[in-house]
Amino acid sequence: MHSISRKLIIAFILVVVISLGLMAYLTNLSAGREFRDYITQSNAIYIQNVATSLSSFYQQESNWDKVQPVLDGLQRSVNDRLLVADTSGRIVGDTSGTWVGKQVSQLGLTDGVNINVSDNNLGVLYLVISGVQVGRGGRGFMGGRNVNSPLSTGEQNFLSGFNNSLLIVGLISVTVALLLGILFTRQITRPIQSLIYGVRQISHGNLMHRVEDKSDDEIGELANSFNSMADSLAKGEQERRRIIADITHELRTPLTVIDGTVKAIKDGVYQPDNERMDVIIEQTQQLARLVSDLRDLSLADSGQLKLELIPTDVAGLISRKLAQFEVRAREKNIKLTLNVANRIPELMVDPYRLEQIMTNLLTNALRHTGQGGNITVNIRTMDSDTQHQTGKPSVLISVTDTGEGIAPEHLPHIFERFYRVDPSRSRNDGGAGLGLAIVKQMVQVHGGKVWVESKVGQGSTFFVTFPINEG
Ligand code: ADP
Repeated sequence: MHSISRKLIIAFILVVVISLGLMAYLTNLSAGREFRDYITQSNAIYIQNVATSLSSFYQQESNWDKVQPVLDGLQRSVNDRLLVADTSGRIVGDTSGTWVGKQVSQLGLTDGVNINVSDNNLGVLYLVISGVQVGRGGRGFMGGRNVNSPLSTGEQNFLSGFNNSLLIVGLISVTVALLLGILFTRQITRPIQSLIYGVRQISHGNLMHRVEDKSDDEIGELANSFNSMADSLAKGEQERRRIIADITHELRTPLTVIDGTVKAIKDGVYQPDNERMDVIIEQTQQLARLVSDLRDLSLADSGQLKLELIPTDVAGLISRKLAQFEVRAREKNIKLTLNVANRIPELMVDPYRLEQIMTNLLTNALRHTGQGGNITVNIRTMDSDTQHQTGKPSVLISVTDTGEGIAPEHLPHIFERFYRVDPSRSRNDGGAGLGLAIVKQMVQVHGGKVWVESKVGQGSTFFVTFPINEG
């Protein structure tokens, strides 16, 4: 048996046995006392009644000669022995018949109940039950000492019958309580056992296992927590597999191109000219970028990304970055604008990572904005923003384009790894779906926030905040 079941059952048994035992003991004590009190009282009444009857008898007869049949008639049961002595102490009546004629002093009878008629003593009445003499108050006395009321055999039988019933009731109660205890224990431990089974299943890799417990107690809560833990483990595992599949996929494309081109050059199909070399270089660079992006993400995930935080003129850095995109923008007749709203304090950031963020956002903006469009970068300071939970005063950088925009169903996912709105198109452009994931990670490691607003056909704005470190 499992140890918790054993402990619960032992606890049940102890509680039941102790409480029933105590109850039986106390019931026995008080019922016994009550019973004896009742017997004492009825003895007292009985002996008084007998004395009164004998007194009436004497008044009629004026002697005790014919007392024996009267005494026999007054006897309650065979257990009672009634004895009458005359004023000289001689026994004149005995329901047992053996002591008639003997002297009270020889028989050890003392302190009987006087039989009187208006203060005249006529004799003494003695009541002996089961060998114990009963006094006026109904209590017994032996050798001059008060003892408990003597009980007749019938009364003794009644008392021990009562105790036996108490014992039987106790035993039945203990058995019933034990059976109920086992039943309850099963009910309590069954969900725990199913949780233990569930934990084993999860630890053996069966992440789809769930426990069923609909109760609203602590165990139900535990089962719910277990199920949500299993959900997130399964989700994490699914995510891990998806990412591995995506990485494999992304690595294979450039490798296939390089492999094909090199083999074709070797076989003399292609000339090793500049055009072919550029293809190889471009694919190698794409591979290098992919590997470096993945490395950045995994370092950031494990909290090992080292940031070179230095006071940085953010507006200056972004202005220089925009200048690098001028040529590509002009090719598409796109106007690049930078607005710096107010004095921007120097920020403690890693300039290399900030450049990476801006490169990714501007590359995306250029990629998704058509001929003659606009890309505007705004920089301003802002107080804490409750909607986006920036928490403290920050610098807000936004990159707005007048491009194709992003449909609402894609918006919640675009910061996920390898997520692409249109996979085929992005791949041709060289995007692996990691750009925004990197942006998000890099902003977060700086303690900032990132979000997007977009309307299909009108354009998108990506917002990035960096907290201003005071002092
Ligand atoms: P990729 O490197 O493939 O572009 P990203 O993570 O940078 O991947 O972006 C994810 C997806 O978000 C892209 O597939 C793209 O469709 C969409 N996206 C990103 N920026 C913009 C933008 N400025 N306008 C429209 N769509 C965008």
